[in-house]
Amino acid sequence: MIIDTHCHLYLEDFANDRAAVMDRAFAAGVDRFYLPAIDSKCIDALLQMEKDYPGHCFAMMGLHPCSVKEDVDNELQLAEQWLAKRRFAAIGETGLDFYWDKTFVTQQYEAFITQAGWAKQYQVPLVIHSRQSTQECIDVIKKINDPALRGIFHCFGGSLSEAQQILDLGFLLGIGGVLTYKNAGLAAVIAQLPLSAIVLETDAPYLTPVPFRGKRNESAYLSYIVQKLADIHQTSVAEVEAVTTATAQMLFG
Ligand SMILES: [Zn+2]
Ligand SMILES: [Zn+2]
Repeated sequence: MIIDTHCHLYLEDFANDRAAVMDRAFAAGVDRFYLPAIDSKCIDALLQMEKDYPGHCFAMMGLHPCSVKEDVDNELQLAEQWLAKRRFAAIGETGLDFYWDKTFVTQQYEAFITQAGWAKQYQVPLVIHSRQSTQECIDVIKKINDPALRGIFHCFGGSLSEAQQILDLGFLLGIGGVLTYKNAGLAAVIAQLPLSAIVLETDAPYLTPVPFRGKRNESAYLSYIVQKLADIHQTSVAEVEAVTTATAQMLFG
């Protein structure tokens, strides 16, 4: 059994064949799917998917850094109302994104710190998006300095030094399709880290692994990540599945 700790299967991209996508994932051994929120527009679809697959799909609540705009206060308020209403598997995805647009960097920081506070308040993991901002996100978590705060640096693509700082903070590395990209250099970093530092994720529909790069991603493709990790660590597929699943279960409970 493997766990996709980060996938957006509730998005429009899957509107026409979601059931088939789920069937393929189940057939590939993927049994649990953690669904990060993006912003208030996605909440209905997110919660519907969780309802459609009880015990398999688990909703997170949060505001993506790319959705931090003029209406950030309103967006955070809506997320907070949901958190007061029911339990969510994690806070996310949140963090910093310096790749697409730096107009709202100050607000991205504020929203990230607010959401880290929610993770502490509700005692759930924090799922961090850190595109071109890995060190900056690490520094935010360091500054909060709460050993009880746990979570994932999702789609980790940083250096060995950054990975070690993340592990020292008690956080995990979310590893997906980027591991199969030749130029990413990620495999060399991952080879030097224990398997127990890693949880599996697709970020579907994004970041599709080789050999499907450029097409829509889906959870069944996690098998390519598992195989790649087994190659890198010179171990079996079964071992990679067992270790990453145990780690994810420990985090999400
Ligand atoms: Zn992300
Ligand atoms: Zn995502």
